[in-house]
Amino acid sequence: MPKGQRGIRGGLKPHLDDPYLTRKSPKEPAVCPRCGLVYRRRRWEYNPDFQPRGKVGKQKCPACRKIEDHYVMGIVLIRGGFFAQRRDEILNMMRNEEKKELLHNPLDRIMTIEEHDDWAQVETTSENLAVHLGRMLYHSYGGSVEYKFSDDQKLARVIWLRNKKEAK
Ligand SMILES: [Zn+2]
Repeated sequence: MPKGQRGIRGGLKPHLDDPYLTRKSPKEPAVCPRCGLVYRRRRWEYNPDFQPRGKVGKQKCPACRKIEDHYVMGIVLIRGGFFAQRRDEILNMMRNEEKKELLHNPLDRIMTIEEHDDWAQVETTSENLAVHLGRMLYHSYGGSVEYKFSDDQKLARVIWLRNKKEAK
């Protein structure tokens, strides 16, 4: 492997599948002990009303395994002076969008939010969520947004920039 190129999971051949979804499927039904998602009918779902009849297995869901391994698949960089002016609002929006995803894409999670004075970085468990957050920033606040995808692993980088709003 050429220097500087990162392989998936420490040296396996790079490929563009999500390595956390290609493992053997768990026995159904199963519940993730960390976040409570339910695995049944071959998919993970958010189902707070789940009333199992019979035995339920315990199995960590792919999102929780990524969070524990810190396996990042999406990065959103929030840049520009506007962030310092609207920090709480912007970060709340990120969290709210993550909550909305629970119903349809419950494996799309925010892993960490790193805050600095005038920028922030959000790490996600999926490319999809990073792209979605970039779209939401752009639609809500304008500025400019850029999407970059890695050729050798599943990783999306989203860079959103908006400069400070000048006082009129
Ligand atoms: Zn989980």
